[in-house]
Amino acid sequence: MATIIRDYTTDQSSIPQKKIKGLLIHHNSVLVDDNGHLPDLTEIQSSDLLVAETEEFIYFTREIDAEYETNGFKLTQLRHLLTRWSTRDFEHASRAIQLQLWQRSHLFCSCCGTKTVRHPNEYAMVCPACEYTQYPRLQPCVIVAITRHDNNQPSILLARSPRFPIPMFSLIAGFVEVGETLESAVAREVKEEVGIDIKNIRYMGSQPWPFPTNLMIGFQAEYAGGELILQEDEIAEAAFYPFDQLPLLPPTGSIANWMIDEIVRG
Ligand SMILES: [Zn+2]
Repeated sequence: MATIIRDYTTDQSSIPQKKIKGLLIHHNSVLVDDNGHLPDLTEIQSSDLLVAETEEFIYFTREIDAEYETNGFKLTQLRHLLTRWSTRDFEHASRAIQLQLWQRSHLFCSCCGTKTVRHPNEYAMVCPACEYTQYPRLQPCVIVAITRHDNNQPSILLARSPRFPIPMFSLIAGFVEVGETLESAVAREVKEEVGIDIKNIRYMGSQPWPFPTNLMIGFQAEYAGGELILQEDEIAEAAFYPFDQLPLLPPTGSIANWMIDEIVRG
């Protein structure tokens, strides 16, 4: 937690000689041109936040109005950029969106109600009265790919949420509760949502998911027993699908798509 913010914004000559890219954000949307490219920034404002630095570019984020207009660029929902962008671009924008959300939702101290100020060189909103410090908050969310082997026929558990706008099937996922390990969250969510027991829970990978502030933590596991009993308000339909008969899956770029692909391709 030692990312320098103020050095760049108060002394622009200290900005490394790199192209400055703007992650201009309005809620879950990013300003991009028709090719999905970010605008170049010619100056940094004091409210801008440093997001990332690569060999070639330095990225700052700024919150803009929904009506913000500039030549050839328009606000585009980050979800729609998921399949077009590289993982790195998605992660930068994801970070920018979450930093902006954190800033605008921590304008006052949650202990004493005093107006907060931004820490000069950390991502932190500090209360000048009681010194309570509020950092960007993450919601850890587990997601699990459960496999089953019957008569040498491997299959994977896929479920459809009643909230999905299209008939798409994904993996079981849910939030980690206070005091829980990641593994026990995985086992609890599976038991609650589809009624089965699992074993051999192993970590696969993770993805920052800014809808709104989740960190998706992916696991794989094996079916251990029980009948599929669905939690109606969470799961509309679920079944073990043979690897060669998969239904409509989540889009490329999402961790669910990557996990299913890893397991099915072996
Ligand atoms: Zn306070």
